[in-house]
Amino acid sequence: MSQYRKVHCRLPIADSRRYRVTVLTFEMCDRTMRLLLATLFFLLLASSAFATGNFKIVKVADGVYAAIRTEPPGLTVNANSVFIINDEDVVVVDTTLTPGTARETIAALRQLTNKPVKYVINTHWHDDHIMGNQVYRDTFPGVEFIGHTSLTDYLPTTGLTNRRGAMSEQGYPAFINALKSRLDKNESVFGGPMTTEEREGYSGSVGIAERYMAENPGVEIVLPTTTVRERLTLQRGKRTIDIRYLGRGHTSGDLVVYLPKERVVIAGDLVVWPVPYVGSPQSHPGNWSKALQQILALRPKRIVPGHGPVLKEDSQLKAMSRLFSTIDEQVRAAVKRGENLEQVRSGINLDYFRDMFAGDSRMRKLIFRNYVVGPAVEAAYLDATGNF
Ligand SMILES: [Zn+2]
Repeated sequence: MSQYRKVHCRLPIADSRRYRVTVLTFEMCDRTMRLLLATLFFLLLASSAFATGNFKIVKVADGVYAAIRTEPPGLTVNANSVFIINDEDVVVVDTTLTPGTARETIAALRQLTNKPVKYVINTHWHDDHIMGNQVYRDTFPGVEFIGHTSLTDYLPTTGLTNRRGAMSEQGYPAFINALKSRLDKNESVFGGPMTTEEREGYSGSVGIAERYMAENPGVEIVLPTTTVRERLTLQRGKRTIDIRYLGRGHTSGDLVVYLPKERVVIAGDLVVWPVPYVGSPQSHPGNWSKALQQILALRPKRIVPGHGPVLKEDSQLKAMSRLFSTIDEQVRAAVKRGENLEQVRSGINLDYFRDMFAGDSRMRKLIFRNYVVGPAVEAAYLDATGNF
């Protein structure tokens, strides 16, 4: 039977803070794809200095370095970290998906400086940005953890639920088996043999998932010791570090780190390259578009995304902002006409944006289909109907 038959798969992906089960609905999936996707969603460039493991250190500005993940775009991800090396200390943004990758990141930091890490900023509460917190706490006694106020609610509730789901048999183990099976058979989800890019994307995803399963059971979740509701400015010697909440976007608790003198923005997952990752009901497309406009208004010289390379120009932000405002507008108009979610889904056409973000890449098309079209439309619908 064709893998392209039209089937709607309803997948328990992530719970809201009220433990409401969320479903990600998408077209054209077969049984293996359902397994493959059941775990996934968020359980949940300047000059290169040197490379270590599955990331490379990239200088962003004087004393500012990004640890950019080098796994190819895939169906699960690890996140970038950033080191801000100040006169006396270091501020780190995001701590990666596992303790082991956090230790590797710290080893790379040690090649740059011996100054202690004084602050860790978590841009939001998804596992790929916080699971290394424990390692930083144990390595740098007295380190402060900064996160949006909502992290103290999300991390022990929704985050815990996502983590348990990811570690269950139906979670990452099933995901790993499904991807390995496809790799063994050389079978693309689009039918026929895989492209090289698909093979690399699936292999990278298996590696990330295997590390998650090997390293994350038993990890202690470290909550913020300092919370930010709207804004916090750190002055560390000559360095000014402006931490801002720009409203709901990728989650309800995204923090952006802005270095005004260097004109660098560390954006967390408000900016992702090549294809955005959207959560439902965690994301809020309309507000997300506005948050991106606020970042654009800063006219940054460099943007460090949560995933993807350091960006030297703002086209990805503009494209993401247009994508999310379009989804929000179309969904709100449909809701005004009285349409339900399924009617909204069948009426919305995002092919233009799919082509813009994915081009001819099958891997990117798959990411767009599963992590943009399905969840973003639902997230916008929940926002439009007040059910988020
Ligand atoms: Zn992320």
